[in-house]
Amino acid sequence: MLLLGSLQRDMERITCSNGAKYECLLFDMDDTLYPMSTGLNLACRKNIQDYMLHHLQIEESLVPKMCLELYKEYGTTMAGLKAFGYEFDNDEFHAYVHGRLPYDTLKPDPLLRNLLLSMPQRKIIFTNADKVHAAQVLSRLGLEDCFEGVICFETLNPPIESESNDDGEQVFFSDSESDIDPPKSRTNIVCKPSLEAMEAAIRIANIDPKKTVFFDDSVRNIASGKAAGLHTVIVGSSTLVPGADVALSSIHNIKEALPDIWEAKEEEQLESVLPSAVEAVVLA
Ligand SMILES: [Mg+2]
Repeated sequence: MLLLGSLQRDMERITCSNGAKYECLLFDMDDTLYPMSTGLNLACRKNIQDYMLHHLQIEESLVPKMCLELYKEYGTTMAGLKAFGYEFDNDEFHAYVHGRLPYDTLKPDPLLRNLLLSMPQRKIIFTNADKVHAAQVLSRLGLEDCFEGVICFETLNPPIESESNDDGEQVFFSDSESDIDPPKSRTNIVCKPSLEAMEAAIRIANIDPKKTVFFDDSVRNIASGKAAGLHTVIVGSSTLVPGADVALSSIHNIKEALPDIWEAKEEEQLESVLPSAVEAVVLA
């Protein structure tokens, strides 16, 4: 009896912890899954400024400051431009700013791939970028099959007319799964770091924020993620920032900084051997 009681307690403890410190890992993509040093970020900003100059006819001397100020105020420069009443096609904008990026600088990352594949939790991308860019980046990094889904620009800002989704092999969270109200006008862009975007992602992915770790390189996104109740990891920083639980200089250091992610898997294995252990004790 005593032995069984102790076994029962062990099983309860294992079941309790196995149920999960973390059930889901939510990853930003750009400058989080690959380092800023690839130059993609800089090239993207240059393309946005070119678009403002050549397509929106904004005066050249105003473009750099406006680009930065809108980014700071509205989450993305694009969202700021829309809020200011500039009219342009979202897909055309994305094709212009991402279509000419130096994607060749992104190389397959087998180390990160192995780390991701060894994590037992659900893994989801949450990016402000559009789905074409997300697919391109994940493919270049060799990570396209490491995630359950991608929450991207189109997920949070579904097209007004079309609800269709034909994403081919890459599984994206379809627009129709979202219960987000369609935008009332094209000026209303939902993106990080707004709490609205955070809460929408949590709802769409159907995750418990208390059991989810959110990785992002942006200080303001981390603050917003914390406000939404997520565990937070600032990536690309060796020091903590407001709202961050953990700081990671590189996503490659994830195992050293967050060994808890792998704990559930080890305990699952332990649980799977336990029934035979119980049987052995009973037979003895
Ligand atoms: Mg980022």
